Amino acid sequence: MNRIQHFAGFVYQEIRLLNQGEYLRIDIQVEPHGAMDGKCAQCLKGAPGYDRLPKRCWLFVPLWGIRTFFRYAPRRVNCPEHGIGVEHLPWSEGKRPVTTTMMGFLARWGRRL
Ligand SMILES: [Zn+2]
Repeated sequence: MNRIQHFAGFVYQEIRLLNQGEYLRIDIQVEPHGAMDGKCAQCLKGAPGYDRLPKRCWLFVPLWGIRTFFRYAPRRVNCPEHGIGVEHLPWSEGKRPVTTTMMGFLARWGRRL
């Protein structure tokens, strides 16, 4: 995963293939890199952690045609300039439940069609 989609400050922890009735699903567990602070979403500077939000899922590019998700519990950081806020997530844009990689993938297919 790091060769394909490396995000500085984050590590891939566990990748699981789940059987959901007649569908399969791949969950990619993402965790913060232990030695690095989260970044403020406004100024992109490292900021001390405040707390963590519940886990969220983002749709990633399907692998072997199987729906694939990033799972991550975003940190809230306490930026000295902007106060407490959700950290910058390099694979996410706003509240969309889709990774930026998947949005690019869909846009390329859209153009081709
Ligand atoms: Zn800031």
